[in-house]
Amino acid sequence: MDKKAREVAIVGGGPAGLTAGLYLCRSDVDAVMLDRELTGGQAILSPLIENYPGFPDGVEGTELVGRMKEQAERFGLEIMTFAQVTGVTLEGEAMTLHLEDGELNARAVIVATGRNPRKMGIPGEEEYGGRGISYCATCDGPLFRDRAVMVIGGGDSAVEEALHLAKFAGKVIIVHRRGELRASSYLVERAAAEPKLEFMWNSEITAVNGGETVDSATIVNSKTGDRTDVPVSGIFFYVGNDPNSAFLSDLLELDDAGYIVTDERLESSVPGIFAAGDVRAGRFKQVVVAAGEGALAASSAQGFLEEVGARRVYEGDR
Ligand code: NAP
Repeated sequence: MDKKAREVAIVGGGPAGLTAGLYLCRSDVDAVMLDRELTGGQAILSPLIENYPGFPDGVEGTELVGRMKEQAERFGLEIMTFAQVTGVTLEGEAMTLHLEDGELNARAVIVATGRNPRKMGIPGEEEYGGRGISYCATCDGPLFRDRAVMVIGGGDSAVEEALHLAKFAGKVIIVHRRGELRASSYLVERAAAEPKLEFMWNSEITAVNGGETVDSATIVNSKTGDRTDVPVSGIFFYVGNDPNSAFLSDLLELDDAGYIVTDERLESSVPGIFAAGDVRAGRFKQVVVAAGEGALAASSAQGFLEEVGARRVYEGDR
């Protein structure tokens, strides 16, 4: 594997990582970005992003991220795809990123690995993956044209994706464990106005049933205890996300939910390792926030390199 030491290695190729890459390369910092798959992160799964500034009519996630990638590459960002980082070790000021098939050295690291949709671990969820169970309405929604589908969860993602599914499906049932949605008011209003949406309140899914593919979900009402098998062909889970930080759990301070704790410069508990975007412990998980944090992490990483450089000169002078 590549033995050349980079100034900064960015782990993760979503909006945070790509923006960090853009800022670093535009400042002539030698940066490489590694992504365990193709670049893009969760944003590419969004059918329409309506709250990223500069796109008054909204923009598809794939298009937005594609433009970010093009822009970063224009300034020379080197991108390594299918490069999974399994750990980082430190020796003095040198950092080694361990990959599945080798290693790479850097003087600073920006972690922008995002998070992944949470699984519920109920019977049938694993078994029917790709056969009716999905975590991506954009990818799989069109497969359920005129059929009944179910969305689990009551947050922004659940409602946004349920509205997207309503374009294809005959009926979309939102199953939520509480008596009201947690989603933003504009989404709640849109959901109320969408005739294809139905709601099952105070309800939890306990099993996915079927033959070759999904044909029903077992739903239990937590108030009445009633158990019903609701016929559906597809079930989309939007019950939150888990940060992709396990590969650093021995090295960095994480919060209780596994998000990377940083200071206001986005530096983690290890000097020279920064975090940006959804993997960072922060309140508002949005594409625009991730991009902003990518820029800030890049600036802080650059500041760190300058500090380390200055320290080296000083130590060398003595
Ligand atoms: P979220 O806000 O954490 O919502 C998760 C939903 O799943 C909640 O309704 C939660 O119920 C439910 N849930 C969690 N665990 C469950 C379980 N075991 N069984 C049943 N239900 C369960 O996650 P999200 O919707 O993915 O959003 C994540 C972040 O991204 C949020 O900050 C959101 O604002 C942001 N986001 C923004 C947009 C946008 O601005 N357009 C779009 C998508 C996401 P409770 O309500 O009872 O906790």
